Amino acid sequence: MAMNRVQFQPGLSLPAFLAEYGSEGQCEGALEAARWPDGFVCPRCAGKGCSKFYRHRQAYWQCSQCRHQSSLRSGTVFEHSRLPLRTWLLAMYLLGQSKTNLSALELMRHLGVSYPAAWRMKHKLMQAMDEREAGRKLGGLVDANDGDWAESLTAPCETADGALQLLAHIGQ
Ligand SMILES: [Zn+2]
Repeated sequence: MAMNRVQFQPGLSLPAFLAEYGSEGQCEGALEAARWPDGFVCPRCAGKGCSKFYRHRQAYWQCSQCRHQSSLRSGTVFEHSRLPLRTWLLAMYLLGQSKTNLSALELMRHLGVSYPAAWRMKHKLMQAMDEREAGRKLGGLVDANDGDWAESLTAPCETADGALQLLAHIGQ
């Protein structure tokens, strides 16, 4: 399966991070490039033909072969979240920058989200990390090297059932 990475350079400063990933459009572009580096691939049938359309301002890709509709988030850790992608990427950045284990409370303060939202985000990212540690087949990962991002979003290996997951891996 194709694998591609969106990299947060090691030691990336917050202003530099925000310049690159500060807007929703930038984050969507980064996720799309990570999932489909060579263009859309249907998560159900691996077909490449598609038509892109918008519903409620959200982009969808419809497979020309099996008519399956995918959004950018479907099959990723972001799928059921209403939070903007930029909030998720910032959470990943902050968790990666943190030398110590960043608490959900701190995450809440940094991101300006509710405590339950911060807790869920952290939990999902850590769970994704655990799944990676367990050596399962993964979609993507986030690597942090000594608290700095070595690479952030690594996406698309598809799992056997065709589901794509965007996973997070936080190092030392
Ligand atoms: Zn398809």
